[in-house]
Amino acid sequence: MTNLTEREQELLASVPKGLLIAGQWQEASSGKTFPVADPATGEVLAHVADAGRADAEAALDAADKVQADWARTPSRQRSEILRRAYEIVTERADDFALLMTLEMGKPLDQARAEVVYGAEFLRWFAEEAVRDYGRYVTTPEGNNKILVQQKPVGPCLLITPWNFPLAMATRKVGPAVAAGCTMVLKPAKLTPLTAQLFADVMIEAGLPSGVLNVVSSSRAGEVSGPLLRDPRLRKVSFTGSTPVGKQLMAEASENVLRSSMELGGNAPFIVFEDADLAKAVEGALAAKMRNMGEACTAANRFLVHEDVVEEFTAAFTTAMQELKLGRGTEPGSTVGPLIDGRARDDVHALVLGAVEDGATIALGGRFGEGAGYFYEPTVLTGVPHDARILGQEIFGPVAPITTFSSEAEAIALANATEYGLASYIYTRDHSRLLRVAEQIEFGLVGFNAGVISNAAAPFGGVKQSGLGREGGAEGIAEYTTVQYIGISDPYKN
Ligand code: NAD
Repeated sequence: MTNLTEREQELLASVPKGLLIAGQWQEASSGKTFPVADPATGEVLAHVADAGRADAEAALDAADKVQADWARTPSRQRSEILRRAYEIVTERADDFALLMTLEMGKPLDQARAEVVYGAEFLRWFAEEAVRDYGRYVTTPEGNNKILVQQKPVGPCLLITPWNFPLAMATRKVGPAVAAGCTMVLKPAKLTPLTAQLFADVMIEAGLPSGVLNVVSSSRAGEVSGPLLRDPRLRKVSFTGSTPVGKQLMAEASENVLRSSMELGGNAPFIVFEDADLAKAVEGALAAKMRNMGEACTAANRFLVHEDVVEEFTAAFTTAMQELKLGRGTEPGSTVGPLIDGRARDDVHALVLGAVEDGATIALGGRFGEGAGYFYEPTVLTGVPHDARILGQEIFGPVAPITTFSSEAEAIALANATEYGLASYIYTRDHSRLLRVAEQIEFGLVGFNAGVISNAAAPFGGVKQSGLGREGGAEGIAEYTTVQYIGISDPYKN
């Protein structure tokens, strides 16, 4: 007996389940597959080919073989492929949204918002592809010439997480295509279906065979390890947790690989005493609850000035209470399930640990009902500054609130983490914003805004949140390398 509607079954049937190697969807060489399940019900949605070492190597062979031709393809042509892919993803927005809701659990509205965000990387990098500037200048001595050109870095390994199945793929594939790189994409094993469908769209948009290869796998290390050691691979771009990122960086060091790392976060959400509290509550809800809190940018620590903490907490708790748990396809559902049982157990353990450390549960703190991995929106108050929950990425719908009494203390608390991805500041004072932004060590700052991700902006972290930037003018530079040609004095030749 299935929980799936006819429309859902038809959509799932239309998704390619094989590996994409050299333009062909094919079975894994071992013949193995792995199941993909709906976290709202536990029902298996599909079985996907399970790549191993030989498949990964075949994918890199394919990418390497076409790299030189692809690099010479006119940038206008690469741009138009991306533009067509943007249009197809946008036309098929309902399919992509439903597929993400099915395999990842987020409410349909949020999945639709991800389609818009994810597609935007294709449009943005279609526009960036043709803006490839070099320079030609005379040396300061006034004799020789300096010629600087950008070249594609070469075949890339792209590894993506499960929390934003479409956007994390387009954020890498978009700039790689724009720059003229070939790719091996390994999506997360929990949510490969969206990436599989997206790869099919790239083929439909005209991407030549071998430029994008997809090796979904339940054994990530077996796929990535041999590729990272292969001298033909020139870059790894990874989005995921900090521990896995560190391990990949260690492996990548053997071949001194270009590495982009989008890792974990521990975002402070700072509410100053002069903030517009209604706006702060609205922003807090978005920054905490988008994706059920399963976002690297999720507000992880609410630092609220002691003069306004009571008012903020009351309004925020009411707003959290009004959210509705449910399968993402259910009308009115605003909070879907967590990705799996382990994720839910980890979140619950953090909540119990916070209580041991002195926090009070003002709301939630319990599993939701039903077969899925639901966890109730949770608010923790009176959280001591040294509570363990403030030192870890929660990745769930839990909001710990703590207080500060001065701007200097807020800054010190915000920086008291090894992470440095997103941060949020609520104040009406623009000078304070600039003063605080100067002093906090985060790659992204939301000013009176709870959601700031945008394809046109450079996204990325400092400290252990990673290396490199995705999106913006910076995004394409991650996929190019600089060549300098020194030209002797043309008057002396
Ligand atoms: P994860 O690190 O477990 O997995 C990410 C990807 O790496 C998956 O494709 C996985 O299969 C693969 N992987 C896991 N172990 C591997 C290994 N040993 N070798 C090679 N590949 C391996 O992370 P996740 O649970 O999928 O995603 C959640 C994490 O991602 C959070 O920490 C979150 O903050 C982070 N994230 C960061 C950003 C960002 O832009 N900074 C964006 C989204 C998510």
